[in-house]
Amino acid sequence: MPFELPQAERQGDPVEKFAEYLALHGMRLTRPQRELVEYIFRYHDHFTATKLLQDIQQKGLKVSRATVYRTLARLVDAGLLRTHRFENQVAYEHAYGYPEHDHLYCRNCGKIEEFSVPELGELRDRVAREHRFRAETHRFVITGLCEECAIASSRRRRVDLI
Ligand SMILES: [Zn+2]
Ligand SMILES: [Zn+2]
Repeated sequence: MPFELPQAERQGDPVEKFAEYLALHGMRLTRPQRELVEYIFRYHDHFTATKLLQDIQQKGLKVSRATVYRTLARLVDAGLLRTHRFENQVAYEHAYGYPEHDHLYCRNCGKIEEFSVPELGELRDRVAREHRFRAETHRFVITGLCEECAIASSRRRRVDLI
């Protein structure tokens, strides 16, 4: 059974939060932006800009490529999205109302899985204390092969030996 994170606690509507952020910066929420933000926050997942562009094209959303990139950057700046770099790809995920967690990254298929263990936070705090450092966040990524890729790779190796 994969580990399930607790359901996100909603502290208000992300679209409203984003509109507030834009207003603060002298901008207003356009219709394509609203549709895009609603789409992004409809489900929790890790996604790349390329994947998001493909998805919205399939769904028939009329949002230009430039708007997608601009909106993503602003959502990060507004604290609604977070970026994670996994080797050579940058993934976005919800930062708003979603609990802290860490990741497993498959270097073969690019799959990203989430997990959360309280001991990691305790370790972070202990190390920070020892270095008189005020910890705010941490990144811990386990890179390797997911189960399917590991099985496929050992099968390939066995074939090579025959
Ligand atoms: Zn994999
Ligand atoms: Zn995540």
